Amino acid sequence: MPENAGRELRQLAASLSQWLRYQRRLGLKALPGEAGVRPKEETGREQKIPTLEEIRAEMGKCRRCKLYPGATKLVFGEGNPDADLMFIGEAPGAEEDLQGLPFVGAAGQLLNNMLSKLGLRREEVYITNVVKSRPPGNRDPEPDEIEACRPFLLKQIEAVRPRVIVTLGKVATQVVLGTKEPLTRIRGRWQRYDHIRVMPTFHPSYLLRFPKERHKTWVDMQQVMEYLAAQEEN
Ligand code: URA
Repeated sequence: MPENAGRELRQLAASLSQWLRYQRRLGLKALPGEAGVRPKEETGREQKIPTLEEIRAEMGKCRRCKLYPGATKLVFGEGNPDADLMFIGEAPGAEEDLQGLPFVGAAGQLLNNMLSKLGLRREEVYITNVVKSRPPGNRDPEPDEIEACRPFLLKQIEAVRPRVIVTLGKVATQVVLGTKEPLTRIRGRWQRYDHIRVMPTFHPSYLLRFPKERHKTWVDMQQVMEYLAAQEEN
């Protein structure tokens, strides 16, 4: 390739990448004509990415696992459907089950405090859980319950397409990353789900029990905020 052509191509690629970053800052999540559309499947039919409302409607009055008889309200998720930052917890607790909203009990209070210290409003981010119905006595969700809910969690991630996912605690971390690694080994270290950065950190309930560990989650969140700020600048 002649040297000039190579240089022009590099300049063109740089301008295109700058334009795409600018569009992204304006809120563009896909190129015109492709918004919300996955590549054609073998059937030749285009598959639209469902919106959060559509995913919620698909869940309906969920009876896909053994948790439904004990649950009051399904806790689907809450927040900005276009959020850059998504938090994924484990499962609703008693207060969440009553209100139908994620992280509104004591652990939620701690999450809210952390968000406000980071200069974030709860409405700016998207918050959900791996499992949408409350496990009895706040036990960990069981594998079959996680499996029943997982397709919906993955669809939520696809609908929101955040820049960063923060997984709160062992269950969310292991489910999102499809790993059995102990949380202590990967906490605070960037991981990936698809093309999305994932920051595993402690669950707020754990931090309520072990307040001395809070500074570690704070450090993890600093990394997240620095990354998001750098994305804004680019
Ligand atoms: N713990 C979670 O994992 N999720 C909630 O919504 C509340 C407590």
